[in-house]
Amino acid sequence: MKPSMKKIAPRSAWLPDYVAPTVRDIDVDALLARGITHLALDLDETLVPHGGNTLTTEDMVFLAHARQLGLKLFIASNTLRNIDVISQAIPAHAVRATLVSRKPFRVYYRRLITAAAVPPQHIAMAGDNVLNDVYGANRAGLVTIFVPARTRWRRALYRRYSKWVLRQRHF
Ligand SMILES: [Mg+2]
Repeated sequence: MKPSMKKIAPRSAWLPDYVAPTVRDIDVDALLARGITHLALDLDETLVPHGGNTLTTEDMVFLAHARQLGLKLFIASNTLRNIDVISQAIPAHAVRATLVSRKPFRVYYRRLITAAAVPPQHIAMAGDNVLNDVYGANRAGLVTIFVPARTRWRRALYRRYSKWVLRQRHF
């Protein structure tokens, strides 16, 4: 499948650098070409439906391919539930949130950057939450990818945002 990730011209911390309709649309080659070495993925509504514990086979294949191409994968989630099954299945290093160290705060993103051990501009954060995943990661200096939520009604909450993002496309 040809990835359909689109480049945005972000003029605000509320805008992502890229928008991808699904996780599998993330263009790994484009990320590698701009020096991205680490891809941090939000969990709920990005990799799985909210509270889910099972990735689809298609997403597993995509993530395995991304790793083969050289991307190091992280799970960057605010969930407090045990996600060992998911992080071991990918496999990806999970940077766990606590009640005080969580997205969108700098203290959380600093831990992610420390875990990656590369400057933030080499880390891409992909997620469905505009505040936690786009704004927070932008402020921390990461490259950001907005992936609309998996669940239809949650996606609907951000429909106007998605349209606004797509109007900022980079041609
Ligand atoms: Mg999410």
